Order: sequence, then structure tokens, then C-alpha cells
Amino acid sequence: MASDHSGLLTPGFKESPYWWERTPRAPESPTDLPASVDVLVVGSGYTGLCAALQTARGGRSTLVIDTHEPGWGCSSRNGGQVSTGIKPDFAELEKAHGATTAMEVHREGQRALSWIGDFIAQEQIDCDYRVCGRFYGAHTPAQYDKLARKLETQPVDLETEAFLVPRAEQQSEIATDFYHGGLVEPRHASVDPAAYHQGILDRALESGVAVVGGVSATALRRARDGAGFVVETSRGPIRAEDVVIATSGYTSGLTPWQQRRVFPIGTYMLATEDLGHDAGRALIPGDRMIVDTRRIVVYYRTSPDGRRVLFGGRVSLNETDPRVSGPRLHKHMTAIFPQLGQVGITHSWMGFVGWTFQHMPHLGRHDGVWYAMGYCGSGVALASYFGTRLGQQVLGLEEGRSILSNLPFRTRPLYYGKPWFLSASVGWYGLLDRLGI
Ligand SMILES: Cc1cc2nc3c(=O)[nH]c(=O)nc-3n(C[C@H](O)[C@H](O)[C@H](O)COP(=O)(O)OP(=O)(O)OC[C@H]3O[C@@H](n4cnc5c(N)ncnc54)[C@H](O)[C@@H]3O)c2cc1C
Repeated sequence: MASDHSGLLTPGFKESPYWWERTPRAPESPTDLPASVDVLVVGSGYTGLCAALQTARGGRSTLVIDTHEPGWGCSSRNGGQVSTGIKPDFAELEKAHGATTAMEVHREGQRALSWIGDFIAQEQIDCDYRVCGRFYGAHTPAQYDKLARKLETQPVDLETEAFLVPRAEQQSEIATDFYHGGLVEPRHASVDPAAYHQGILDRALESGVAVVGGVSATALRRARDGAGFVVETSRGPIRAEDVVIATSGYTSGLTPWQQRRVFPIGTYMLATEDLGHDAGRALIPGDRMIVDTRRIVVYYRTSPDGRRVLFGGRVSLNETDPRVSGPRLHKHMTAIFPQLGQVGITHSWMGFVGWTFQHMPHLGRHDGVWYAMGYCGSGVALASYFGTRLGQQVLGLEEGRSILSNLPFRTRPLYYGKPWFLSASVGWYGLLDRLGI
């Protein structure tokens, strides 16, 4: 074991996602870029590729570019937890937008969860997709009561299957006494996120989409003749009738309007060394995805082969050194599983998720440019689903409509791309977590 000062990073430790072992990143492609296309998509994650799949299958020539290798962003480095993903609860949305809109927003989250299973099956994507359920652990007795109330007061017509697990029975779900019981949502699922991304990429290429990594979009303007746009890239200008921005947590000054409405939050993961099949499965016997009620979130699971723990959380706002974030995450993991105290870290990595002031994704069109972004840390199902809807919107199809295109996408005064307000918010949320509120 370990050669670093924390004693936790194993020899051969990698600063890259565990998922890239099975699905390595493709080398940069030297492909020539076309001078013009019907649809140019910036960003090659789930959003960009799902939108591109639609536009190419709808008969429009489509090019996807990415600064890095295809899928380099969140879409190949996430935890692979597949959920409904809409953060604000019904009451909050009802207060802001009325009951009908609140209902439809939550339905979109539910649709996204059922849609992704169908999509993976239809496209025959081999990515360890499994409807395994999610255990939502209560970090205090008060939070357990809150989960119980949430279950009892589910809004009519939005009821989803869920059941409580009291603390006395919790070991059937997870080998820890850290939680005071929890809630199981059996419809939630798991996936190998990079294999899933690769599957969409393969289908996109088969459908005629050109996907080119190592190309940055640097400027965007309307074409002089008013027909479409010219996108300046690190490899020359490209003319496009339609432009789709799918950059979420990596949104930059290329699109200042979107940059003022989505902010990046660092989130971190580690993979433990191989624990052996039995030891791995003993930690989470039902093989569920795990999250808990703390506002400074942790999320974790075992690897698809059941031999490692893949543990994620927000241990910093912007630390980019995985050798620093890995040992910090390890501490959070061993608070839950003290039995892993001596277990080393083989992989540690991070990414920036796109967050919005409304805590919800947004999609639509601004100044003629299409966009979908801001999944607030829950984008496996939502980015794929809204990317698909957006592609349908580009094609002018009725089925692309979503209530989330109608909601205002707001910014805050003085926010221009550097989220100065985050450390105060995180400090406040951390205090609430410690008080158990
Ligand atoms: C560590 C981690 C764990 C997570 N865990 C989960 C989870 O368990 N469940 C869940 O639902 N969600 C999770 N998420 C969130 C989820 O992965 C994202 O919401 C989703 O992948 C977003 O997809 P996307 O296509 O919109 O963006 P991304 O996949 O981030 O893709 C954006 C791409 O845009 C490219 N780009 C940016 N600017 C330019 C430019 N100017 N020119 C060219 N290319 C550009 C970037 O290089 C990047 O590849 C996690 C995220 C992280 C980082």
C-alpha cells in the first residue's frame, strides 16, 4: 500500500475515473472539420450526444465538438446513480409556479427515469444498467421522521414506490450504524456511466454524427447574411444553421447568457482497492445506490462487479488535485464504514457539475442558440432525456416540448461566472447538517 503522505493512495494510483479502465478515452481525432453543417453541437456528454442522435436521425448533418476527448466531462466520470433528479419538492415548486406546473416538472423527472431504461434497451447499450433501487439514509432521527412524513404526504398522482427501513432493520441494506434508518426507492437504477456514454457515442457515429475531440469553440456570432451562425473554433470557423450548447458545468464566456445562469460545483469520487467479492457485497447486501439526508451530499455504491466501493461527495468547492480530495473523501467513507479504515484508494477524480439558481435543469433557445444544462448533480437520466428533447426541438417536433423550456432561467445580480456566493452557502449547509436539521 501507499507511498503518499496520507498513506492511502496505493502504488499504481490513478488520477482518473475508475470507469476509464473498462472504457478508455479515445485518442484525439485528426479528422478534418467540415466548413459548414446543419447542426453544430458544443459538448460531447450525454446532452450533446443525445441531441445529436436526434438531429442526425432526423436527416440533418450534425457535428459534435469537444475541447477534450469525447465524453471527457461529467458524463464519463459520474457515480452512475440513475434517479428522477428533480431537486425542489412539490410544495416549493407549487409556491413558485402553481400546482399544474409543479406536477408537470415532477412528471418530467419520473419520465426521465423510465425513459432511460427503455432507451438503453432499445439502443442495446451494454453498460451494466440495473434497476437496483436507492437507499436514502437518515443522518439523524429527525431526518428519519422527515422521510416518513415525505412518504406519507406524497402529492396525489405523483406517488412513487418507496418504503421505510427502520434503524433496527438497516443492516439488511447497509453494514453501518451511521444512519437512523432510511427510505428505499426501488425504481432507481445503476449504470456504468462511461460504458453508457460509449454506447450513445457508438449509436451517434452509426447514425452519421461526426464527433471530433480536441476542438474548442471559442466564439459564436450570427452569420452576416442572417442565416445561422459562425462558430470560431481552435481549428477554424464552422458555419451552422443551428447551434446546440451542451457544456453544463463547463459553460464559459463562449455563451455569456448561459454562463450567468449555470455555475460550476466541484464534486469528487474515489475507488477503493479490490475488497474481494464477499467483502464488497457484505457492505451493501442489496447492491443499492446510497445517498443520505445531509445537504453536503455523499453518494456511493459498489462497483458493478461488487468488489470495490465507489464513494463520492462534495469535499471541496474547487480543489482540482485528486491526491488531496481522495484522502478527504476517504475520511467521509470511513465515518460510515469504519471497517474500511485501512483500505487504500486506487482512483481519485473530480468533475464540475452545472448548478442553477432554481436547482433545476433548463433547456430551450436564447438568441437563436439551443441549450440544455444545469442538472444540479443528477444528470445521468436528465441530461440524456433533455438532450433528446432538445434535439427534437431543433427538428421542430412536438414531442420535444418540455415544461422546463417554459420556466424562467434566472441569474443573480453580480454573478458573471465566478460563484463567489458558494463558500457562504456551503458553510451554512454544513452547519445545518451538523445540527441535524
Ligand atoms: C464526480 C461526479 C459524480 C456524479 N454522479 C452522478 C450520479 O451518480 N448520478 C447522476 O445522475 N449525475 C451525476 N453526476 C452529474 C452528471 O454526470 C452530469 O449532470 C451529466 O453528465 C451532464 O452531462 P452533460 O452532457 O450536460 O455535460 P458534460 O458531460 O459535463 O459535458 C460537457 C462537455 O462540454 C465540453 N465543453 C465545454 N466547453 C466547450 C467548448 N467551448 N468547446 C468544446 N467543448 C466544450 C467539455 O469538455 C465537456 O466534455 C456526477 C458528476 C460528477 C462530476
